[in-house]
Amino acid sequence: MAGQILSGLNSAQRDAVTSDADVVQVLAPPGSGKTKTLTARVAYLLAHRQLKPWNIIVCTFTVKAATEMKERIRKFVGDECAKQLKLGTFHSIALRYLKQYGVHIGLAKDFGVADTADSKAIVKRIIRQNDLSIDAGQARGRISTQKAKGIDSEQFARTCKSTEQQEFSQIYQDYQAMLDASELLDYDDLLLKCCTLLRTQRQCVANIEALLIDEFQDTNNIQYQLMSLFAQHRNVITIVGDPDQSIYGFRSAEIKNLSRMRESWPDTLTINLEENYRSSGAILLAAQHIIEQDEARPPKKLQATHAFGLRPILRKLPHAQAEAEWLVSEVKRLQTLTGNLLQPSDFAVLLRSAALSRVMEAALGQAGVPYRMVGGSRFYDRVEIKLLLDYLRVINTPTNSEALARIINVPARRVGETTVKALVEEARQHRTPLWIYIKAIAQGNRRSSTRIHETAMLGLRKFVGIILGGRAKAEANPSQPVAVVDVLNLVIKKLNFEKYLTEHYKEDHESRWSNVEELLAQATEASDPARLQSLLELSTLPAIDGVEQAELSTKDDALSVFLANIALTTTSLEKAEADGEKVSQLTISTIHAAKGLEWPVVFIPACYDGSIPHSRAEDNDEERRLLYVGMTRAQAVLYLSSPARNSQREEAVQSTFLNQPGVISFFEEHGPSISFAATKGLATTLGRDCPTQSELETCKKILDRDEDNYWPLNGEAPFTELAKADGIGFGMQNMQPATVFISTNTT
Ligand code: ATP
Ligand code: MG
Repeated sequence: MAGQILSGLNSAQRDAVTSDADVVQVLAPPGSGKTKTLTARVAYLLAHRQLKPWNIIVCTFTVKAATEMKERIRKFVGDECAKQLKLGTFHSIALRYLKQYGVHIGLAKDFGVADTADSKAIVKRIIRQNDLSIDAGQARGRISTQKAKGIDSEQFARTCKSTEQQEFSQIYQDYQAMLDASELLDYDDLLLKCCTLLRTQRQCVANIEALLIDEFQDTNNIQYQLMSLFAQHRNVITIVGDPDQSIYGFRSAEIKNLSRMRESWPDTLTINLEENYRSSGAILLAAQHIIEQDEARPPKKLQATHAFGLRPILRKLPHAQAEAEWLVSEVKRLQTLTGNLLQPSDFAVLLRSAALSRVMEAALGQAGVPYRMVGGSRFYDRVEIKLLLDYLRVINTPTNSEALARIINVPARRVGETTVKALVEEARQHRTPLWIYIKAIAQGNRRSSTRIHETAMLGLRKFVGIILGGRAKAEANPSQPVAVVDVLNLVIKKLNFEKYLTEHYKEDHESRWSNVEELLAQATEASDPARLQSLLELSTLPAIDGVEQAELSTKDDALSVFLANIALTTTSLEKAEADGEKVSQLTISTIHAAKGLEWPVVFIPACYDGSIPHSRAEDNDEERRLLYVGMTRAQAVLYLSSPARNSQREEAVQSTFLNQPGVISFFEEHGPSISFAATKGLATTLGRDCPTQSELETCKKILDRDEDNYWPLNGEAPFTELAKADGIGFGMQNMQPATVFISTNTT
């Protein structure tokens, strides 16, 4: 087994995997196998140190990374064992602990998770109520920053001095009060409250034997505290990270956590990895040109293990539209040239900000290239899905007044906006949750001070009836986990939802209904008790203070777990990955969300000043690192481009990071002219079969039109020789009109 786990690792990686040191830091550049090493270390601890999987915590940065890592570990130690690991994002691990033990720190057992949109809506309302002229997004960001530092609203109130601070402090306090009253935790609270829990209920983590963290350079203060608390009984920590890839400073990530850790644990063993196994030599050289512009950075070279390969391509296009069309044509051309060896899923378009995706999406859509958005228009953000989820959330946590106010008159039941506003205000004055208040009115136990019209009263009663019906269903059989799908079905039926969609969305009601069907499928899955167990990995948490594990799997916890998991599944990509999406799709992602990932072909469009570096960014060095992170996602081909006019038709100047003498000469010297194809090498890199002869015939036909442009292979075998030898190589001199190909593993 050890041989299996260690095979395919270099000696520094093996040292890190097998080290006896309690605290290990692996610091290394992109693509050097940090994540691979961390994964192997987990497998090693399980197989050779006989650690139990439920005593190991593994933190990844995204849900996708967690899924991938679990898959890899499974190969070494088997399905059963891998399933029992406490592996996930900081947030999902915190959620598990809070669901299990939160009652000990006064959390409601059915607490809900407020996602970004929810918490922003709350802030907006407070600002409106208090007639303040503060930007809601900024105020929300500021609250998050305070929480990331571990400062709660009361602590902040005690220290603030200026009027401006006091104004913000009031928003922070109201916001927190509103969350508490609604029994909601926002993302930051998950971490904060988990810290409180682990500080006061230390025995919760008495069993933890090892803690492993990926992408450590982007942890913030509260995550650092959480790490220390997870390891409070035994200091066994392995972290991997890269200071050059720190890109979450804007969200309070603290790069100094690396040195802080060495100070807290002076015996920390630091291991460096040097070779890059991901990208071609040329891509690394280009990336190096960018990161080296940071003069404060200690010089460090990226060492390629792959051949030099194809030069990255830098293009200027007249405008954003043309840039998008060019990008799509390149995707198609590369596919044709490689005989469809490259599938859409081999391509990624990485953007500085999600807003840039619109033009790209339109061009891809028109050309019929299947794509998916990461962090953009999310499945759970679709109107029909959000509405149904709001119903489920209110059924689960009726005190969630935000969600309640949103759905009270949707679908329309004649409870007009003025009535809703009046009810919200009255409930607030009576310091009663909105739900309790309207239920009393609907049931005739209380009178509203505003006159409610008879039709509105009927609507209100109907609404209260639906929620009560849902709750009754959710609590129907106390000894059985709730079938989430039954509750959802009940809501759909009571709302006559299919008819509602048909009437309201004449154009696309069918696709909206199929989204609903998709949600039903998910709910069905979550209703399976085994699946529920695995969502929370209940069996892996020890019982404390009489909170039996069994308790969690009864009553309406299935619903609460289902909803909390949705709140944490932040991207459609993550959802698609979790479902094992079959259709090959190109990825459009922000660079931030692409961290840790890799693709054969990467495009970074919109490289202009104002986009990257972003006009609102405070730290130019972080912006540069962001470009570096984007570039180092590419394995074989990297395209950078910029339009002369952006999508708002404003003049755009090529990014200052690219507009540097070293960078310009790098691209000019070797220009966008040389292209070389060795598909076999690429196939090896990707671990796939080479294209079939007939697929290659198509490519050859294209190439045959342009005989003069064949190019010899780096002074090795001329193209024609190569083509003869393996029947698949080809190369071209000009980018226009036909392109390129590529090898990172030139054979
Ligand atoms: P990032 O900083 O971008 O997260 P990383 O250091 O985590 O990168 P990995 O994602 O672990 O790097 O590895 C990059 C690629 O290199 C992966 O495809 C991985 O399988 C491969 N790789 C890592 N180590 C080796 C090795 N010793 N031999 C061959 N391939 C390797
Ligand atoms: Mg990694």
